[in-house]
Amino acid sequence: MPGLCKGDPRSKAPAVGSAAWVNELGRARRPGPALPAAALPAALGSSTLSVHAGSRDDPATGAVGTPIYQNSTFVLGAEQYRAIDQGYARDRFIYTRYGNPSQWAVQEKIAALEGAESALVFASGMAAIAASVLAMLDRGVHLIASKELYGGSYAFFHHELPSLGFSVSYVDPRDPNAVRAALRPNTMLLFFEAMTNPLLNLVDIAAMAAIARAAGAKLIVDATFVSPLGVRALEHGADLVLHSGSKYLNGHSDLICGAVAGSRKYVDRVWPRLLAYGGCLDPHACFLLERGLKTLALRMRAHEQGASAIAEYLARHRQVGWVRHTSRADHPDHALATRQLRQHSGVVAFALHGGDAAALALLPRLRLMREATSLGGVETLVSLPFNTSHAAFTAEQRAQIGIPPGCVRLSVGIEDPADLIADLDQALATI
Ligand SMILES: *Cc1c(COP(=O)(O)O)cnc(C)c1O
Repeated sequence: MPGLCKGDPRSKAPAVGSAAWVNELGRARRPGPALPAAALPAALGSSTLSVHAGSRDDPATGAVGTPIYQNSTFVLGAEQYRAIDQGYARDRFIYTRYGNPSQWAVQEKIAALEGAESALVFASGMAAIAASVLAMLDRGVHLIASKELYGGSYAFFHHELPSLGFSVSYVDPRDPNAVRAALRPNTMLLFFEAMTNPLLNLVDIAAMAAIARAAGAKLIVDATFVSPLGVRALEHGADLVLHSGSKYLNGHSDLICGAVAGSRKYVDRVWPRLLAYGGCLDPHACFLLERGLKTLALRMRAHEQGASAIAEYLARHRQVGWVRHTSRADHPDHALATRQLRQHSGVVAFALHGGDAAALALLPRLRLMREATSLGGVETLVSLPFNTSHAAFTAEQRAQIGIPPGCVRLSVGIEDPADLIADLDQALATI
């Protein structure tokens, strides 16, 4: 497909056979890669971007919506050989692990939602995290990560990175002095989650970005729990923002995928790791993710509304001793939430007076809410940290990090809030 690239470097490309373009440090880095399109009007809202950014009608037939390019390879011509030789293969279609129009379309939509120059999609959130973290590190350096990490990320930081010769310090990112104290001369990366599980603690992204910048380090933010509509991490100074697309981005609990977004320069550094570790997203999965993303803004509004209503109901319930949601004034990071969050997420945590036994008794009594791990889908999911995400902790350790006995985590879906409240009400009445 000659001429498909918007940021076509051919105008600058020297003759085939010369590798000068690769080493030309002053060369323009254009956003993308992107398929050609009629330019969208400037300053569109999130709902409009969710629907239109990146999506392309089929130029051959006029079919509305991005076709699924279910192919592993592309016809090679002079231009593809030149792209390989000159080091701009990311801007041409050669082989689907390197890039595919179905990937580019959904990447462009994610980049638009994040306000990023460039994005990449992956076969899972963990594939995105592994490739992105490794891309930002030199051999043997030090990095700082949150004490409160998603379990898969913790395993990667705690087992994989040390085995590769990296050292990791764990801090509470809500204590900037602790973050500064953990810095070493060879600290290259800070890695935090925009909102943690299950306590829904927030990180002040701008404050962490300032610490990283002053230390000559980079900042990666995993914004899975808030979605790009909750916070645009790059605008607050993060160098890369990551998502498990399996959660809010896709939103239908029917896909495992991941994404990273940032400047073209940094995403270009992640791309070789995607090639090396091989976690590319299949074109059909790209179609599902793109379809899910079209309703992201609509879904996030419903998640926010439902979660806020349920948090308020729970806070007044006599069997409930503790409720966490960023919409509530008693959330410990409420001031930061007001400043930093554009929208609240659908995750709510609460604790029953009866402890873990009461929480265990609650789950089978729920009729609408599904007892399952994961979050961000249209259906409400309920799980208990003590026997899922934090099962490896002792009761004392859970108490120490602030997870009370009887803690229940809800990922509020897009059902009618009144129906969800009625479900909780009938279940709580019988325990
Ligand atoms: C689920 C999750 C991941 C991992 O994503 P997968 O798509 O399951 O690989 C990473 N970070 C957070 C915060 C998550 O919730």
